[in-house]
Amino acid sequence: MIKSLNGIALLFFSLILTILAWLNAGFSQFLIPGLALTSLSLTFLLSTRAAFLEKLFHGIENMYFFHKIMATFSLLLLVFHNVAMGGLWGSHLAAQLGNIAIYLFFSIILVAYLGKFLKYESWRMIHRLVYLAYIFGLLHAYMILGRVLLQPTFLGFVVGGFALIGLVSGFYIIFLYQRIGFKHKGTIKRIDKLNHDTLDIEIELDRPFDYDYGQFAFVKIFQKGLEKAPHPFSISGGHGNTVYFTVKTSGDHTQQMYDKLAVGTSVKIDRAYGHMKLDQGRSQHIWIAGGIGITPFLSYIRETPTLKKPVDFYYAYTGAENAVHLDLLMDYQANNPLFKLHLLDSKVDGYLDFSNHQIPSNTTIFMCGPTPMMNALATTFKKVNPLAELIYEGFSFK
Ligand SMILES: Cc1cc2nc3c(=O)[nH]c(=O)nc-3n(C[C@H](O)[C@H](O)[C@H](O)COP(=O)(O)OP(=O)(O)OC[C@H]3O[C@@H](n4cnc5c(N)ncnc54)[C@H](O)[C@@H]3O)c2cc1C
Repeated sequence: MIKSLNGIALLFFSLILTILAWLNAGFSQFLIPGLALTSLSLTFLLSTRAAFLEKLFHGIENMYFFHKIMATFSLLLLVFHNVAMGGLWGSHLAAQLGNIAIYLFFSIILVAYLGKFLKYESWRMIHRLVYLAYIFGLLHAYMILGRVLLQPTFLGFVVGGFALIGLVSGFYIIFLYQRIGFKHKGTIKRIDKLNHDTLDIEIELDRPFDYDYGQFAFVKIFQKGLEKAPHPFSISGGHGNTVYFTVKTSGDHTQQMYDKLAVGTSVKIDRAYGHMKLDQGRSQHIWIAGGIGITPFLSYIRETPTLKKPVDFYYAYTGAENAVHLDLLMDYQANNPLFKLHLLDSKVDGYLDFSNHQIPSNTTIFMCGPTPMMNALATTFKKVNPLAELIYEGFSFK
């Protein structure tokens, strides 16, 4: 939360600006719906994956968190507005549009929260209807207060500015991002099945791909029978025009990738995201990978033959049959005295536990793995040495 402070400041600034604009114009009775329009606009802005927002919020997973907070806040304001107006259906088109917008928005938010029971693609499609509710809401506001809002006043600029931000952001993420956001085109050059559920994919791109070790990208695959929607995967290696991903089956899409993905298939990648940058951090590192959470670390190991800082690497997996790239890790240890590999099969060794470890303050701990594992370890590290730096990333942000 502390790391998202700049982003939170941006949200507060926008809401305060809105309050000032409505109060200054003498329209305190419209403050609630006015705030709802601004928070809806911010909700769309936060869905754009824009690089400057990723910096302000310190990661797109935090952007999605605040996207949900702003959506819920908008919903509460709209319900309050609707109740205060007595749920007017009246004969006015403007009032009806407002009601439709609220009920549509309410239904979609409900669906968004039921997301885990739906297939990801259906969830995404239904989610997009919020844009329609937003347009109805704006029409409602401008039909009722157009003569005030269309004036070149402070209020006019604030409401108009946020409306523009909301409309452009929503239009970009729904209609343009899929077409223009994926600038790197490529072809699958090689596929290696590493075990019963995990594969390595090597992709040759049409131009060099810039990333930091530890980052991830959204990947679109164009093969008949495979979902076209972009899925996020950590970059597990590559430089220049070559990039690797290491994918474990966890649902329909990844299972189809494992079963059917073919060499020669076209793919598209957007840009590199994420704040787990293994090249950075303090003078000594602890890396912790749980299961397929090994992927962000693979990029560093594959691409940096000589380790520059001491690294203790803990790789925890459940059953030896689920461990991947053990040869690569052992070779790396053999060639790098600064690299200490700790392999933990939780079936044999139990869970990772650092409660009796000494962690010096010049340490950066990077973690990637199942959320319960990372939360438990984060609690331990904060007790053992709150001054050590902790950076971790989960594999989910829906
Ligand atoms: C930052 C990040 C990095 C990741 N890196 C890797 C990796 O290196 N290797 C790997 O095997 N897996 C990785 N994953 C997980 C991978 O994205 C999901 O396993 C995959 O998208 C699941 O799709 P599915 O259809 O097979 O499964 P489903 O059953 O459809 O989805 C399982 C869960 O994955 C998430 N998910 C599904 N589709 C998407 C999507 N398009 N966008 C965002 N989330 C989605 C949802 O939370 C969903 O509930 C990463 C995820 C994130 C967020």
